[in-house]
Amino acid sequence: MKSILLVSGHKSGYNKSDITGVNEGDLNIELVRMLAVMLADYALVTVYPVDRDMYQDNRENKLLVNYKDYDYIFEVHFNAYNGSARGSSVQLHTDYTGGISVEQCIIDNIALLGFKKRGVNGIVRRNDLMNMNKAYREKVDYALLETCFYDNKEDMRLYEQKKSEVAWAIADGIISAFGLDMDSSDAVGIVKDCSSLNVREMPNHENIIAIVKAGTKLKIRGAGKDSDGDIWYQVTYKNVTGYVWPKYIEFVDR
Ligand SMILES: [Zn+2]
Repeated sequence: MKSILLVSGHKSGYNKSDITGVNEGDLNIELVRMLAVMLADYALVTVYPVDRDMYQDNRENKLLVNYKDYDYIFEVHFNAYNGSARGSSVQLHTDYTGGISVEQCIIDNIALLGFKKRGVNGIVRRNDLMNMNKAYREKVDYALLETCFYDNKEDMRLYEQKKSEVAWAIADGIISAFGLDMDSSDAVGIVKDCSSLNVREMPNHENIIAIVKAGTKLKIRGAGKDSDGDIWYQVTYKNVTGYVWPKYIEFVDR
């Protein structure tokens, strides 16, 4: 199974636009959260702790992940240019010579929703980004999405209308261009050593989205790390996908 690291470009509340009233950090996190759920059936998905900035951690040599543990790293951003620019691009390292079918599929899918393609048919090449450069040096596939312009009213109106379609456009690009199959062999865990277990929206101690009783069986879909570097399991219970503290999960036969 492919191992994918999803990265939200900035922390909650960062890069606020006075023009649109939204901030990039929260948009990044929301989109990464949707992608983690959508990709859970197809890949082993890890979310970089959303209360940390991977660029900052990289710069300070405090990364909580090892790039080489992943087949693909996908970093989500929204762009800004004084409110006056629009559109989407997937950004790749200038010297990367591998295939771009995944990235082209993602940007083509997003363009079908009405967003303008920037760069060369939606692809922008650069070599001035620390996370991207590190991935290039370590030969790990990496792409950075500038989803659209968070400081542009038209882009944000379109995005707010279509954000789940945008998330599906990205997930579909990754699933179909990588040729990922729906995985029916998820591990199953049973809740133990507690009376009930909180399922969290993200791998941290915040938003509870479900509570499951001891003895409940959960599908184990993937993992995420919190800002202490501790692993949480991504689980699905009924139609809810979220994160639980591993101590209370015992793997069982299906
Ligand atoms: Zn950004």
